[in-house]
Amino acid sequence: MHNIKELQALLSEAKKIVITTHHKPDGDAMGSSLGLYHFLLALGHHVHVITPSDYPYFLHWLPGNSEVIDFQIQEARAKDLVAEADIIFCCDFNALSRIGSLGDLVRSSAAKKVMIDHHLDPEGFEDFTYWNVSACAAAELVYRFIVELGFGNNINKDIATCLYTGIMTDSGSFRFPSTSAEVHRIIADLIERGANNSRIHELIYDTNSENRLKFLGHILSQKMFVLPEINTAYIYIDQEELKKYQIVTGDTEGIVNYALSINGIRFAILVVDRGEARKLSFRSKGEFPANEVAKKYFEGGGHRNAAGGISFLSLTETVEKIKNILPEFEEMLKQ
Ligand code: 5GP
Ligand code: MN
Repeated sequence: MHNIKELQALLSEAKKIVITTHHKPDGDAMGSSLGLYHFLLALGHHVHVITPSDYPYFLHWLPGNSEVIDFQIQEARAKDLVAEADIIFCCDFNALSRIGSLGDLVRSSAAKKVMIDHHLDPEGFEDFTYWNVSACAAAELVYRFIVELGFGNNINKDIATCLYTGIMTDSGSFRFPSTSAEVHRIIADLIERGANNSRIHELIYDTNSENRLKFLGHILSQKMFVLPEINTAYIYIDQEELKKYQIVTGDTEGIVNYALSINGIRFAILVVDRGEARKLSFRSKGEFPANEVAKKYFEGGGHRNAAGGISFLSLTETVEKIKNILPEFEEMLKQ
């Protein structure tokens, strides 16, 4: 962070603080935001977490969840808080377009903006940057930020629980290459400070509904297509299926990883018809740049091995488009 001293000075008196994170927040978005929330609250600041949308039910147990303001439900209150804020922290995203109409309010707010993030290509809207693309999670950066401010010993059970959740979910349970030895040392510290690792895994991963598992069975047997000659697999889900199995926010998360787990598959794509648009998830192994496909063809981006994008074509047309662009990457995918 440049100017950490300046930010330290700002934080030395009680401030009105808003923490926000990206649309449809995931475990890292909520873990980093709520970890930071508990830290700043304990320092005596007035702090609110505002999400641009709802988020998965398996994150609702996180400490502080009941205080989170969903912009789509409490828009007026969120607007007031953003307008009155002295400081706005932006966790796990680096472009204001990732938070929808909340982005314009953040941009026009007089508050100092602090970006804590690990994605490529930051837009540069912020006053203070705590950014590192090699971090495995924004929650890892929140941990480092707290330590750098000199408050490592203030990390209590609630902070530790939230940060553990963020790191665990964004590192694929500590399996992605970004899970460095230092990340494991951070995790050890978080466990010593009260994060109940075994319980957190259960709360995140063992909360399937019967419907969700039946949905998963249907999707994997009927809607997954493998192209072994280019080491690629794709899955697409239509609106009827989402309705039939009463799919809710969070239920489609992780499905793309089943396609990637097939022996030899290096690129996996999931398309979900969300009605207003088709949402795409891309995952890859090794050097194949999933984010470049997302950026070039689907108005998206992300990391090399995990990216997302959007399509306004119909579901069938979107799948056709994918099939048409794959030959362009054939050489890279075959390697
Ligand atoms: P997911 O597939 O889980 O929605 O997203 C995977 C990764 O891609 C995440 O790191 C997320 O931040 C990024 N991502 C997802 N959707 C978009 C998008 O529309 N635009 C950009 N720039 N990144 C995205
Ligand atoms: Mn993240």
